[in-house]
This record gives sequence, C-alpha cells and structure tokens, in this order.
Amino acid sequence: MNVILETMQNQLKSLTLTEAAKVVPTIIQQAESEDWSYIQFLQKLLGHEQERREEKQMEKRLKWAAFPFQKTLQEFDLNEQQSLSRKQFTQLSELNWLDQMFNLILLGPPGVGKTHLAIGLGLEAIYKGYKVAFISMGELIHTLKTEEITRRSQARLKRIREANLVVIDDLMFMAMDSKEANLFFHLINELYNSASIILTSNKGPSDWGDLIGDPAITTAILDRIAHRSEIVHLNGDSYRMKHRTSIFGEKTVQK
Ligand code: ADP
Ligand code: MG
Repeated sequence: MNVILETMQNQLKSLTLTEAAKVVPTIIQQAESEDWSYIQFLQKLLGHEQERREEKQMEKRLKWAAFPFQKTLQEFDLNEQQSLSRKQFTQLSELNWLDQMFNLILLGPPGVGKTHLAIGLGLEAIYKGYKVAFISMGELIHTLKTEEITRRSQARLKRIREANLVVIDDLMFMAMDSKEANLFFHLINELYNSASIILTSNKGPSDWGDLIGDPAITTAILDRIAHRSEIVHLNGDSYRMKHRTSIFGEKTVQK
C-alpha cells in the first residue's frame, strides 16, 4: 500500500498537484474511517489543492505589493474622516473603478489617512485577486533611475508594470529634474492603459507644475492621470496627533 501511495504522490506532484500530493495520505485515511463516497473523496482532495493554491497566490501578491504597513479598510474609522461619506467609502471599497481603470487622487495634509486608505484599498484588491504594487514617489524615482543597473529595481518595476493597481505614495514630495520627470512620465504612460493608479499627495495638482519643473511634461502627466480620475480631499486634523501617545501618560485622545 505504501508503495502505491508513494507512486501516486509522485504522480500528483508531476501533474503539479503538489498540495494534493502532500495531503493525500491523510485524506485517504479520513475517507476510510469516515466512510466517504468516491465523490466526497475527490471533492475534498481537489478542493484542498485549489484552496491552498489560491492562498499561496494571495501570499505572493501580498509580498509583491510591498506595502510599508498593513492597514485594512475595516480599520479605517469613517467617523474620524468626515470628508468622506459612507456612500463614497463603500463605492471605493467595491473596486468597480478598478475594472474601469479609474485613477484615484487622495489629497490632504499629513496624518489624515491617505496612505492608510490607499493600502486598505490595495489589500481589498489583493483579496479580490488583483495584482497591486505600492511605492513611494521617492523610491519610485530612485528605482526608475537605477533600472538599467540593478536587478532589484528591474524586479520592482516589473511588478509595477504588471500590476492592476499601482499606489504612488507622497507624490511631489521632492522636486524633480527633467530626466526624472521624463522617466516618471514614461511610466505613467505605460500604466495608462493597463492599470489604475492611486496617488497620494499633500499638494493639489495645481502645485505639481512647480515641483515637476517642466510645464510640458507636467501637463502630459496630469492629462493621463486626470483623464479618468476621482479626486478625494481628506481633511481634518492629523489622526496621528489626535491619537498620539504621550510621554507623560497613557494614550491621549485630543479634540
Ligand atoms: P497620511 O498618509 O495622510 O499622512 P496615514 O494614512 O499615514 O496618513 O495615517 C497616519 C496614521 O493614522 C496611520 O497609523 C493610520 O492608520 C491612522 N489613521 C489615519 N486616519 C485614520 C482613520 N480615519 N481611521 C483609523 N486610522 C486612521
Ligand atoms: Mg502618507
């Protein structure tokens, strides 16, 4: 019996049903002791293969996304962010805009939850099977500039180009020279027809021109991003400041 079982496990492996191969002995035992029908047995075995595969795919997508931290939409407290209505929040969470390749521009001062919201939407997209890539603007420029020289940058950009949703965090935090602006424009151009982009920034599009420098490139970038886009203004006090932990006492919640 052991030899047959081993042969069968190898067959399953060579058919790349590796997860089924791992559990088949246990499932056979269970089937025998619980008197399963053939159909039940096969269902259990194939079901296990499929579930584990999906889990592994999701783990991979999560790793590729390279989120700096994981905060979900469920953890986003709407009462703390009055500028977004529950209806708008639900619409964003449903991700139909992703299929329609809409872009999302999240604007607002530091600490209002732009990055949290972007990551929460990114996580939701990963749960639903989309590929997501997160990168800060600073990192993105560096990665684009080193694409020719480092494998790491090449790999990172490959993930970005293959993603259905690309989050570019803290846009225009730094001034760009014309070479950088050109590289950025080319990437946006590539993504334009293949992905949705979430941009977060503490400056509105009218200020971007000053930071990108070249007005022609700024217009071209804005044109592509704004074509199908929704701008969300997040206002209010910094969540960090309100919920900061004090040196002198317990957590303080200030109004
Ligand atoms: P921003 O990117 O706008 O500077 P973050 O998204 O980094 O701000 O938010 C700062 C911190 O405050 C994070 O830890 C985030 O989880 C938390 N935070 C901000 N807004 C909310 C909110 N509405 N509900 C729950 N946590 C929030
Ligand atoms: Mg942020």
